[in-house]
This record gives sequence, C-alpha cells and structure tokens, in this order.
Amino acid sequence: KRAKTSGRVEVHHSGEAACARYKLDLETELRRAIDQGDLRLAFQPIMDLGANRVAGFEALARWTHPVRGVIDPGEFIPVAEEAGLIVPLGRWAVDTALATLARWDAAAGRPIPISMSVNVSAIQLARDDVPGVIAAALATHGIDGGRLTVELTESAIVQDPERTTRALQALKSLNVRVAMDDFGTGYSSLSYLRKLPIDNLKIDRSFVSGMLADRDKVAIVRAVLSLADALGKTTTAEGVESIELSQTLAALGCSHGQGYFYGMPLTPEAAHEFWQTRIG
Ligand code: C2E
Ligand code: CA
Ligand code: CA
Ligand code: CA
Repeated sequence: KRAKTSGRVEVHHSGEAACARYKLDLETELRRAIDQGDLRLAFQPIMDLGANRVAGFEALARWTHPVRGVIDPGEFIPVAEEAGLIVPLGRWAVDTALATLARWDAAAGRPIPISMSVNVSAIQLARDDVPGVIAAALATHGIDGGRLTVELTESAIVQDPERTTRALQALKSLNVRVAMDDFGTGYSSLSYLRKLPIDNLKIDRSFVSGMLADRDKVAIVRAVLSLADALGKTTTAEGVESIELSQTLAALGCSHGQGYFYGMPLTPEAAHEFWQTRIG
C-alpha cells in the first residue's frame, strides 16, 4: 500500500517536473523567437455593423515553432507574461501592427480609413512605459493616434488602478482609442467605466456565441449594449460565427462585430486584400 502511494507521489512529481521543464523550454524558445523575429501578426477584420464596412483589424500574435508547430497565443502569452517577455513582445506587436498599417497606406498613396487594434496585457502596462512606446511607434510610422485602438482587459484596472488611469489618460492625449477587452469576464467593479477614458466595450465571446439559443446570454448582451449606449461608448461583439447572430446583434444596436462569420485572422497580405475587395 505504501509502495503504491509513493509510486503515485513519484508519478505526480515527475509530471510536475515535466510540466515545469516544458514551460522553461517554451520560455527559452519564445525568447529566441522574439529576438530572431520569428513571431508574426495575424489581422482579423472588425466590421462596422451599421455601415456594413470593414472598420479595422485586430492584430493577433502568431508563433509557429520549428519543431512543435503552431503554438496558441493562449499558451505562449501567459508564458511571456510570467517571464517578463511580454514587454519586448508587446513592443514588437505595436511596432509591427503600425508598420503594417503604414505599408497599406503607402500602397494606397494616402491614409486608408482603417483602424488597427493591438492587445496590451495588464503585466505589460504595469512594467513598461506603454504610452511612450506607442507615441514613438506612431511617430516612426507616421500614423495618427486616432487610428489606433488599445485593447485592455479589466485585470489591468484590478492590478494597479492608479497606474492604469495615468496610462489611459496619456493614451487619450495621443488621441488613441481604448477598448475594454473580454468585457464581462473580469472581476472589477463597474465604477471604472465612469472614471476611465474607455471608448469601446468588447463583449466577450462567451456571451455572444450560443446567444440565439440562450435567453440569459441575450439578456446580458442587451444589458451591456444599453450600458454602453448610456455611457456613450461603442460596442464590439466577439465570436460572431453566423449571419443570424450578426443580424441579431445589429438589430440590438451593437455597433461592431468580429468573428469567423466576417473573417478569420489573416496574413497582412490577405487582410489588405480583404479590405480592398470590400470597399467597392
Ligand atoms: P482576444 O484578445 O480575446 O482575441 C480574440 C480571440 O478570439 C483570438 O484568438 C481570435 O482568433 C479568436 N476568435 C475570433 N473570432 C472568433 C470566432 O468567431 N470564434 C471563435 N471560437 N474564436 C474567435 P487567438 O488569436 O488565439 O488569441 C487568444 C488570445 O491571446 C487573445 O484573445 C489575446 O488575449 C491574446 N493575444 C493574442 N495576441 C496578443 C498580443 O499581441 N498581445 C497580448 N498581450 N495578447 C495577445
Ligand atoms: Ca483582444
Ligand atoms: Ca477579446
Ligand atoms: Ca475573448
């Protein structure tokens, strides 16, 4: 009996060790990938539901590991946050997203009416001068701040409300828009919506997908739309996967939609083409 228990303990330990080892390997390899420029950005369309046009794109990090293959951001972003690599990764994402937008502008010979959204992690906001980094990237690439949206989760507000407030005010002075990402899934109080300069609420996919068959989800989405409307904020529904969902959200007054129904995350070339084929 004792042997069995100790055997089980041993198995447990080796499992933990393997897991720790894997994370360490991933961290080392992610550091190398960032240094060598092996990460890519994919661009997913965000639609203006009223005008039925492409409002912009969300830049999403992509990592294809030479041996392990595609690694999900849901896996490597937490590793980057734990290892402090989210600072260089986040700087790279802002710079690359704006460089891409500048390339599209150059191809058109003018600034195109498209905005770019980038994800900024709470840990990145706490450890880096995000407004300074963004101001520099906007200047480098000649992009007006009004064409950039920073997507932030509620965890930033919970972690350090004062620092977050200062950062958002600095972003506001650059004319950069701020979106509350995964809205409804965080643990913060709603009072920040009144105090902080937040322009857009991104309604989390967990409320949107399956909404047509779930009265509770519809009630939550309606409530968020009404709250946003009362506070003068725009709204983006995440995870829109069908035409029925898109039409329902538009009818409910949701201003923007994002999801596989409109378009997947695309390479820069495919995203540019996506926009071009939809301007008529
Ligand atoms: P997110 O910011 O909520 O991004 C939306 C995620 O939903 C993306 O997953 C996107 O591919 C996925 N998605 C979009 N439309 C649909 C749909 O219709 N159905 C379904 N099932 N999924 C949809 P992805 O690319 O795997 O990214 C996961 C998360 O990783 C992001 O969630 C974001 O939190 C984080 N992330 C990605 N890139 C970055 C980055 O550059 N910096 C930071 N800090 N986080 C990032
Ligand atoms: Ca996001
Ligand atoms: Ca989101
Ligand atoms: Ca989400």
